[in-house]
Amino acid sequence: MTEESFFTLAVHAGEDRKANFGAVSVPIYPASVFAFADADDGIAIHNYQKDGYFYGRLGNPTVSALERTMAELEHADDALAFASGMAAISAAAFTLVGSGDHVVAPESMYSTTTNFLKHIGEQFGVETTFVDAANAEAYTAAIRPNTKMSWMETPSNPLVKITDIAEVAGAGKRAGIASVVDNTFATPFNQLPLELGADLVVHSATKYLGGHSDLTAGILAGRRDLVDKARHGPAKLYGGNIAPQVAWLVLRVIKTLAVRMERHNSNAFAFANMIGSHPKVEAVYYPGLGSHQNHEVAHRQMNGFGGMVSVDVGAAETAKSLVNNLKICTFATSLGGVETLVQPVALMTHATLSAEERAAAGVSDGLLRISVGIENIADICQDIYDALG
Ligand SMILES: *Cc1c(COP(=O)(O)O)cnc(C)c1O
Repeated sequence: MTEESFFTLAVHAGEDRKANFGAVSVPIYPASVFAFADADDGIAIHNYQKDGYFYGRLGNPTVSALERTMAELEHADDALAFASGMAAISAAAFTLVGSGDHVVAPESMYSTTTNFLKHIGEQFGVETTFVDAANAEAYTAAIRPNTKMSWMETPSNPLVKITDIAEVAGAGKRAGIASVVDNTFATPFNQLPLELGADLVVHSATKYLGGHSDLTAGILAGRRDLVDKARHGPAKLYGGNIAPQVAWLVLRVIKTLAVRMERHNSNAFAFANMIGSHPKVEAVYYPGLGSHQNHEVAHRQMNGFGGMVSVDVGAAETAKSLVNNLKICTFATSLGGVETLVQPVALMTHATLSAEERAAAGVSDGLLRISVGIENIADICQDIYDALG
């Protein structure tokens, strides 16, 4: 798909105006209960023999509109929307693995996903081998007879490490292992994991899809059989369904996803190229830099390098004084909003990991995660440069 057509798709994906009196904005259906026309109709809908809605947790027209939209944007057969990224992530995992199964996952990624995989290990005997995901062969080396799922997060949180999706998904396919990609950092504007061979994609829609730091949501998209299994299994049983009002908010802001991502990409690229000139900066991590460990892979599998940059300023004290001195950029957790957000990683999101786990994940004490917003790039650069002192 050309980059131009994504701009069109983001505006029109999932449209079904005939179903809604021609409404250009999808209506919000708050109903949690839907009446049946007669006994046969009710029985058929309730038993999934006929399309329709009957109960809020199990489907809603506004939520379906978001699911259609995300399926189109991710080139997926089907999609499911959830109340949070973690609800989508746990639904993906519980669709693919059970007691006694084995998972291969990155040693450096979003720390709650790490903790979730450790949790299902302790609670349900689903063991995970954590590997250096920048090296696709590490996945193959970790495969066991009972491996059922390869988990990828690329670019990863917070170090923007890149995993070769086609390599890992290809090796998985040959061994009968399903591949899941957390596409939160890239968004479908920059990367289409299903086109590269992945079976499922998950999102924290709280981040770039939502884009305005004002909602919590998640998406799962991919192969029809797996999405069906998730819909009638974990989504139904664990009940992490999205509210129709939130689904509508996500639909509303997806229309500007392409415009926002284009700007996030160009601002982050400029910032990553500039900030290394500050004497206190010891390392800059950005997949768009020629110096990035997997720049070639990123160049091959991404249409843009994204809005996330990580910077190592050496010491925790330097990171703390930077966030205290910001004037335009915001000191906050999370990412993917229109405003530039800065966060010292080791002291916050990754504080739940042990010092050894942080070291294995490459999260040093002076690491800052910067979600470069859509403000004037000169203002962002000046603010962070000055705040570093
Ligand atoms: C934030 C985040 C999540 C979790 O999403 P929530 O919406 O907070 O549940 C998962 N993966 C990545 C990469 C994230 O950044």
